[in-house]
Amino acid sequence: MQADLHSASAPDNDWRARAAWLTAALNRHNHAYYVLDDPSVPDAEYDKLFQELQALEAAHPELQGSDSPTQRVGGKPLPQFEQVRHSIPMLSLGNGFDDDDIVAFDKRVSDALGLVPEVDYACELKFDGLAINLRYEDGVLVEAATRGDGSTGENVTANIRTIRAIPLRLHGDRVPRVLDVRGEVLMYKDDFARLNQRQRDAGLKEFANPRNAAAGSLRQLDSRITAQRALRFFAYGIGMLEGVDMPPSHSALLDWYMALGLPVCKERAVVTGAAGLLEFFRDIGVRRSQLPYEIDGVVYKVNRLDQQLQLGFVSRAPRFALAHKFPAQEALTVVQEIEVQVGRTGAITPVARLAPVFVGGVTVTNATLHNEDEVRRKDIRIGDTVIVRRAGDVIPEVVACVPESRPADAREFVMPVACPVCGSEIVRLEDESIARCSGGWIKCSAQRKGGLQHFASRRAMDIEGLGDQLIEQLVDKQVITTPADLYRLGLTALAELDRMAEKSAQNVLAALEKSKSTTLARFIYGLGIRHVGEATAKELARHFGNLDALLAATEEQLLEVADIGPVVARSVLAFFTDPLNLELVEQLRAAGIHWDEGAGVEIKPRPLLGNIFVLTGTLPTLSRDEAAQMIEAAGGKVSGSVSKKTTYVVAGSDAGSKLAKAESLGVSILDEAGLLALLHTAGMDAAPATDDVAIETSDLEKP
Ligand code: NAD
Repeated sequence: MQADLHSASAPDNDWRARAAWLTAALNRHNHAYYVLDDPSVPDAEYDKLFQELQALEAAHPELQGSDSPTQRVGGKPLPQFEQVRHSIPMLSLGNGFDDDDIVAFDKRVSDALGLVPEVDYACELKFDGLAINLRYEDGVLVEAATRGDGSTGENVTANIRTIRAIPLRLHGDRVPRVLDVRGEVLMYKDDFARLNQRQRDAGLKEFANPRNAAAGSLRQLDSRITAQRALRFFAYGIGMLEGVDMPPSHSALLDWYMALGLPVCKERAVVTGAAGLLEFFRDIGVRRSQLPYEIDGVVYKVNRLDQQLQLGFVSRAPRFALAHKFPAQEALTVVQEIEVQVGRTGAITPVARLAPVFVGGVTVTNATLHNEDEVRRKDIRIGDTVIVRRAGDVIPEVVACVPESRPADAREFVMPVACPVCGSEIVRLEDESIARCSGGWIKCSAQRKGGLQHFASRRAMDIEGLGDQLIEQLVDKQVITTPADLYRLGLTALAELDRMAEKSAQNVLAALEKSKSTTLARFIYGLGIRHVGEATAKELARHFGNLDALLAATEEQLLEVADIGPVVARSVLAFFTDPLNLELVEQLRAAGIHWDEGAGVEIKPRPLLGNIFVLTGTLPTLSRDEAAQMIEAAGGKVSGSVSKKTTYVVAGSDAGSKLAKAESLGVSILDEAGLLALLHTAGMDAAPATDDVAIETSDLEKP
């Protein structure tokens, strides 16, 4: 496999040999991806090889045989399934990656249509699932097949029948004699996370991504397995149609599909020209991480069907459509070293130092490996080629290694016995996955830095302008040790630091002064007590109302606080019995840090206390986060899964298995209007709370 990954090790002095090598590599990757549902390299790596072969074939057309991977769609159907020949082939899509590609596509289209100046396009999402053809005869689902190699797919009718979103019978009065609905079977992100958790619990292999999970779940010989796999479907295309006139445009087709009861994604628009396409792309790019499913781009289709026909097809894709792909979120690189970082609680995190790689729109040189067990589980060694993932703003992580490309001198990671910063012993308690530096705040400057950075951070004391690097300098020069020292800083000490001038030093002093007026919750959070996140800090402030009551609280009293269990209670107690911490608190109060003691005591109405809600599907106006905030502001709890303890399930469109489970358990079901009415009756303002309620994201279904 190593030869597949490193172009340097492939023969590239001779274009014929290079093309043969690329063909062989692409064929192997296709087999792993399409047939085994178990890709061996990231998509970006595959795309690079594919584009290289395309360029070689363009320069040397004699290379382009009909069996070239650039001319073919997908992979061979699995022989275990009955084969289905598609009446009309199921093709792939051409790709565009940057603005120029899109402008060129629009120009190609308008030129081919006889210089139509402004072409209308239907824009949709590029779902990361697998393409399916659903054959309906007289409105009844009679057959479902995968795309396969484009002309022959696998008969997966029994499995498709288990997907609740797919109607077994079409609705409405314009039901055709024959209709081939084309669309994507996919898995929502939260269902994917749960499936992988189940796989882990059962000691089974995890799926690389939701696409592979969807494909692996659908291509099962036992439909009972598919039935447990929470699959969804969106319709986006058409094959055969008999007995009803073809709608005049792609957007009209999708509207008709909705009338027939087929699921169509609501994220779609009709736009004009390249400018309209790019605007759609940017808008979706911004909202991508909030979508409940993975997409790897958007798809543009000439909207008028007569124009689509006029444009026609090339060998593996229509000329009238283009997939505009997002920058890859995964890439291959080499682990040059594994070092450890010391966090503010002393947690030791192994970090992979990587050969720089461009992924998710930035150049990445470090990626977290989380903890020692994770390094062992993923078997990542120094020298390995690895898949790195950076999605949205999430910290880059090493997803997996490519064992085939492991060099002979690859080294295993060894957890150091002493803290690299302060030399104190590193200890790992038996029941913990995290190893920690035992030096504590006083001995270990890394912990001091981390603690001070946390104290100054936006969600804690919010000291504007006091960034991480400034704090590092202040600690390294031994100007400060504890947060209380921050409030003793003078202009000269600050102005002497690197990259600081008097003006910026004055700004930091002003920000420090401003931060003195805060809330009890921010102050508690800023102290950095282990296991006390923002939500717990708020709960503690709300419950005790003032700091002295919290300082005097016993373990029993702490356990009375909502959502606080023995581990958190003991951690809070331990923190406030340490004389150094008590002294710090007193020094901070003496420095003038204050809050409205009454604010915490104010007993907010919490009419939904004790009620557990589960949110599912897409609500018409509220995002899931907004709905969750409103519920929590009223004292309710939002959970990710339906059980007998659930009080209400709030269901939007495309609600799937959770709704079904709620129905089977007899849990009350609300729609958005019902939720708002409930909140109204409970006397709660319908506006979502903003700063007031923190959501424990672990409790939420991921959006
Ligand atoms: P594609 O996924 O780039 O595009 C075509 C497919 O997009 C369609 O068949 C359909 O399934 C899907 N699609 C999603 N939303 C759609 C919409 N709204 N309208 C129409 N179609 C929509 O093409 P492909 O031929 O399926 O696969 C090629 C891609 O797969 C490559 O670019 C690569 O990223 C990946 N791949 C990766 C490997 C690997 O080893 N990692 C191997 C083979 C392919």
